[in-house]
Amino acid sequence: MKMVYSFDEGDGKNRKLLGGKGAGLCEMTQLKLPVPPGFTITTEVCKAYYQNNKNLPKTLWPEVKKNIAKLERKTGKKWNSKENPLLVSVRSGAAISMPGMMDTILNLGLNDTTVEALTKKTSNPRFAWDSYRRFVQLFGKVVFGVNDKKFDAILENAKNKQGVHLDSDLNEQSLREVVSQYKDICQKHTGQPFPSNPDDQLLLAIKAVFNSWMGERAVVYREKNHVTKDIADGTAVNVVAMVFGNMGNDSATGVVFTRNPGDGTNKIFGEYLVNAQGEDVVAGVRTPKPVDEMKNEMPKSYELLLKTCRNLERHYKEPQDIEFTVERGKFYLLQTRSAKMNAAGMIKTSVDMVKEKLITKERALLRLQADQLEQLLHKTIDYEKAKGSKKAAKGIAASPGAASGIAVFDVKQAVAMGENGAKVILVREETKPEDVPAFFASVGILTSRGGKTSHAAVVARGMGKPCIVGCSELKINQDAKMATVGDITIRQGDQITIDGSQGDVYLGDIPTIEPQITDNFKTILEWAKKAKKIGIRANADTPDAAQLARRYGAEGIGLCRTERMFNASDRLGLFVKLIMAKSVDERKQHLEKLQELQKSDFIQILKAMEGYKVTIRLLDPPLHEFLPNPEELINKIHKLEKQGNTQEIEELKVILARAKELAEINPMMGHRGVRVGITYPEIYEMQIRAVFEAGAELAKQKINAYPQIMIPQVGSITELNHIRQIYEKVKAEVESKYGLKLKINFGTMLEVVRACLTSGELASTAEFFSFGTNDLTQAVFSYSREDVEGKFLPEYMEKEILERNPFQTVDVNGVGSLVKIAISNGRALKPGLEIGVCGEHGGDPNSIKFFHGAGVSYVSASPHRIPIAIVAAAQAAILNKSKPKAKAKKSHK
Ligand code: ADP
Ligand code: MG
Ligand code: MG
Repeated sequence: MKMVYSFDEGDGKNRKLLGGKGAGLCEMTQLKLPVPPGFTITTEVCKAYYQNNKNLPKTLWPEVKKNIAKLERKTGKKWNSKENPLLVSVRSGAAISMPGMMDTILNLGLNDTTVEALTKKTSNPRFAWDSYRRFVQLFGKVVFGVNDKKFDAILENAKNKQGVHLDSDLNEQSLREVVSQYKDICQKHTGQPFPSNPDDQLLLAIKAVFNSWMGERAVVYREKNHVTKDIADGTAVNVVAMVFGNMGNDSATGVVFTRNPGDGTNKIFGEYLVNAQGEDVVAGVRTPKPVDEMKNEMPKSYELLLKTCRNLERHYKEPQDIEFTVERGKFYLLQTRSAKMNAAGMIKTSVDMVKEKLITKERALLRLQADQLEQLLHKTIDYEKAKGSKKAAKGIAASPGAASGIAVFDVKQAVAMGENGAKVILVREETKPEDVPAFFASVGILTSRGGKTSHAAVVARGMGKPCIVGCSELKINQDAKMATVGDITIRQGDQITIDGSQGDVYLGDIPTIEPQITDNFKTILEWAKKAKKIGIRANADTPDAAQLARRYGAEGIGLCRTERMFNASDRLGLFVKLIMAKSVDERKQHLEKLQELQKSDFIQILKAMEGYKVTIRLLDPPLHEFLPNPEELINKIHKLEKQGNTQEIEELKVILARAKELAEINPMMGHRGVRVGITYPEIYEMQIRAVFEAGAELAKQKINAYPQIMIPQVGSITELNHIRQIYEKVKAEVESKYGLKLKINFGTMLEVVRACLTSGELASTAEFFSFGTNDLTQAVFSYSREDVEGKFLPEYMEKEILERNPFQTVDVNGVGSLVKIAISNGRALKPGLEIGVCGEHGGDPNSIKFFHGAGVSYVSASPHRIPIAIVAAAQAAILNKSKPKAKAKKSHK
């Protein structure tokens, strides 16, 4: 096994072996771009390290030393030299980028001797000692695990003592003292002197990088982002000859996106710091300058930067996010990777790059992360209504969208409160990678320090959460959990609103408005509609939802839940009366009123979806769901008893008795769906009649309505045929009443395991199928969804018993097998059978890819996920086309 690749020999396509950073460095080196020489220790070595009880393979070290010798030849410097010492950085880098998740050590190779050599060689003692103090700090933190704050305190002290504000103003003397104090801290921490031999330093550093792979931050990141072993298994280690951005005012370090990641504008976007090194730009210790200023300050390097950006884009066909350093006027590239952008940026660059003929439409669609598009469906501040509201402060708009919530200053509390359902806005001076769990738990992030490329900004953008950074007017007192700006005080728990698109912080809960679909987004959706093969329908129960879905591109309704209509405030009372009815006659009276209400609902929904099919599902939940729960009722009765209100007590007692009668141990597997339809036939009859009459009235008005009736919870053909008789009876009645013929399809859901297994029988009666994947998943796993998500499921995922939540992404091996069986049996009888998916999986991109392959006719998703589903369906079609393996033949039209 070859364990080490120098940058001029590694295969830039092999990210799994070399990690993303290593592969990029190899690729750029071989493109003859100005990259400092270096080498990559492969991810295989990382795996071997863990397999072998955290021991490095014996043959690794000689290979490393051989490559160090190569660096010596290329740089003309010498390892541990008393004259011209070679220094290196040691950098992690896995197959996928995990920004800020692992640490890098800079200036390795420095010790008390080589620092003097560096001083002499450069005649720049400040530089040499600044490099040394950075090295000891990073080494102490990464290798020994010393708390950063200890180093920060010493540095603060030194600045105060010397009377300067910036680290770059510290003089040699101060820096010497800092280094010596830093080393003391490390020695106290480990009980050993700070390692001075570069060989020892390098060995320890390599191990530390490997260890960071299993560090808490990295593990959490992988878990949250579903990074499984087949995506990235272990980190590589990159050893890179140092170039120095801290050599004086002709030196700098910076981070640049080749296009603006906030909106996709085709103009480089980034920041740089003069006389600085490594993470300074990102860490927010000094405020960096916008990269445009380089044009005046360092024109030659700026030109090179522009040229490099163009070359990289042309090569990778994807906007890049790069790190660079200028050492005494000479420009170096230190990293490139595909730029992470928000959805607006991705959409615009997709459209632009097609126009520029850089990529094809197919690639433009494939590069989008369908899920991310949800951001574009993000809220903004309602500026009209916000006019009178008090703006408390202004910061840098770092990630768009608006959010209201309570200010929380403490990371742990933010996590706890967010997980408890509170809307939390995390307020911090700055954030660090270990704060990431709090990002997940928050609706927005506000920091007082840092720029657009600070940690908070990068992470928030990646997650699509509103974020404001560098809000320096806000004086944050982390310990007291409060912030002040002028005479305003914001305390923990106070309601605030942030506008991440503008950078404004408001006091209170400011109204927000729904977003609009931009022209670029429309273009993408048009391309996607042409590319996709399956239909996209909406789960919509109201005319409003139907209209919204249609605007977003829905081609019909795949699931219209009739019971939601009973939950509206004007219906619930009626429905309760229905359930309480003592006789069939009494029940029928209430049903007549409900029928009129349902009919008018259907008419409106069908109108909103004119020209498209609307699948109406008859009553599904168990009846007791419409009654108050017995415990609540008992409490209420007790209270009333104290007040002596006897009449109401009697009424409630009757309801209580009925609620107890209807209560079930396992309601989800109980008296619901078609089972209610069979035992209370008048309910289904009423609903079927409401659909037919709605259809008839619209037909008279010459409106193209295509309702279809869907029966839930069916497990056998006899159940379906039983309801079919009611359907036929009502159909005949309505047709003769209105004097016309109506074609209203009659179909079944497939959500009971038995239904999937006997779909060949069901197809004899059903004119369409629709998979109810929520219930089907429950049934296949025997998990009660209501319970598991709050109980063992999180732990199952943590322990990798389950890779994904099967209620979010369809379980291909289990549920998926059943789906395939059901489709093939159904279509064996009726080749053109319409088969849809209505569970929430219908809006999940990964599931959509599976369903496309399984040959469904359409998926149905909630209205705001329609654009996502359209793009995901297009991606599935494109991917399927490009890999022409023997696919289940698509027998439907
Ligand atoms: P991360 O993965 O957190 O971005 P990196 O390994 O890219 O970590 O390095 C952290 C910082 O150090 C970056 O700003 C990078 O440009 C800088 N850096 C890394 N190696 C070198 C080097 N050999 N010379 C100069 N700067 C370097
Ligand atoms: Mg880092
Ligand atoms: Mg980096």
